[in-house]
Amino acid sequence: MDFELSEEYKMLKDSVHDFMTKEIEPIAEQIDREDKFPEWVWKRMGELGWLGITIPEEYGGSGFDYLAQAIVGEEMGRICPALALSAGAHSNLCCDNLYRNGTEEQRHKYLPPLCRGEKVGALALTEPNAGSDAVGIQTTAKKDSDHYIINGTKMFITNGDIADTLIVYTKTDPQKGARGITAFIVEKGFQGSFTSRHLEKMGYRGSPTAELSFEDYRVPRQNILGEENQGIRVMMSGLDAERAIFCGLGIGIAERALELSLKYAKERVQFRQPISNFQLIQGKLADMYTALEASRLLTYKATTLAQKSERGGKGTEIHKVAAAAILFNAEAATKAALDAVQIHGGYGYMLDYPINRLFRDAKLAEIGAGTSEIRRIVIAEALLEEV
Ligand SMILES: Cc1cc2nc3c(=O)[nH]c(=O)nc-3n(C[C@H](O)[C@H](O)[C@H](O)COP(=O)(O)OP(=O)(O)OC[C@H]3O[C@@H](n4cnc5c(N)ncnc54)[C@H](O)[C@@H]3O)c2cc1C
Repeated sequence: MDFELSEEYKMLKDSVHDFMTKEIEPIAEQIDREDKFPEWVWKRMGELGWLGITIPEEYGGSGFDYLAQAIVGEEMGRICPALALSAGAHSNLCCDNLYRNGTEEQRHKYLPPLCRGEKVGALALTEPNAGSDAVGIQTTAKKDSDHYIINGTKMFITNGDIADTLIVYTKTDPQKGARGITAFIVEKGFQGSFTSRHLEKMGYRGSPTAELSFEDYRVPRQNILGEENQGIRVMMSGLDAERAIFCGLGIGIAERALELSLKYAKERVQFRQPISNFQLIQGKLADMYTALEASRLLTYKATTLAQKSERGGKGTEIHKVAAAAILFNAEAATKAALDAVQIHGGYGYMLDYPINRLFRDAKLAEIGAGTSEIRRIVIAEALLEEV
């Protein structure tokens, strides 16, 4: 077992670190305030190869793996979690899903412009009445000769209002529950009505989130991703990798919370000494460091396992490990951000200190990609099945 990253990963990590520090840190607060990141950032990330990290080079990607994707998320998340979320949803939820489940024709058609940053990708599963219970989706796709007609509403979709290419989950046979789900590659601009409503969030501002409505939206048959009524396979094929990869953002947030707290604790003087002299403050710093290290190890294990496992899902080791990684990671990041606010005292509560943004951002990881409650259920079910 080697705990050192290889040179290749280190170089990738350093290049993302430098870009984020030089180019994004000065505008991170503005991105949060305006709830919008500049278009040039997306194009630049495409040029740098960070929008198709796990996609093989023949389809325009960088040919890395899930560990690399988590490392990129970590370095982006340290400075601007919103950017990391949008890039992650694009690269993993859309591109990697399309690569894993797409035909050769679909891969060649859709992946290169997505990887180059000319197009934005998204994945639309959640609905107003179907979140944790994803199989309960009500959006339908009805066959009409060589097309399917989509009707329904999707909720909380990352990049939803700016996406050009979306993976959309529908019911093609509503009576059959999980066995009646079909995933489609949907382009903006197909015939029919497609509307989006931008949603205001407490955190991750700058990463657009939208409610999407499809009305008589016509999608060609050849845009089915995977097979008809086999959408649950498409969904499950990526869930564990998604959970493992999104841990990168939590690591970035926790790392930044610790960095800012260490600096502030050494500078802030109360009772004629830096507050870093107080053991109750030191205890918080030590806990932040410990959780961060544990979180990173679990994440690297989960991403490596996800890469090795052909298809994750129920009954596989990765299903349990990925749920454990993101459960721990998300709660550790929220706690680190909360402790960082406490160390900063009243200043931590002020909007012009970056710490409040980390706190607002951190909480999402306990909700998206399956909530903490669902993750605990997944882990417990797996443990009990093993006995
Ligand atoms: C900013 C943001 C971005 C998102 N991006 C995307 C995206 O790009 N694409 C997409 O498809 N979705 C996206 N989502 C949706 C996200 O995946 C869902 O919010 C999440 O799955 C939870 O669903 P819900 O919000 O409907 O909550 P619910 O499922 O309604 O849960 C409400 C509460 O009940 C609990 N609960 C539910 N079932 C159980 C149970 N069986 N046992 C115990 N407790 C339970 C939950 O843990 C939670 O605490 C995003 C959400 C947000 C907030």
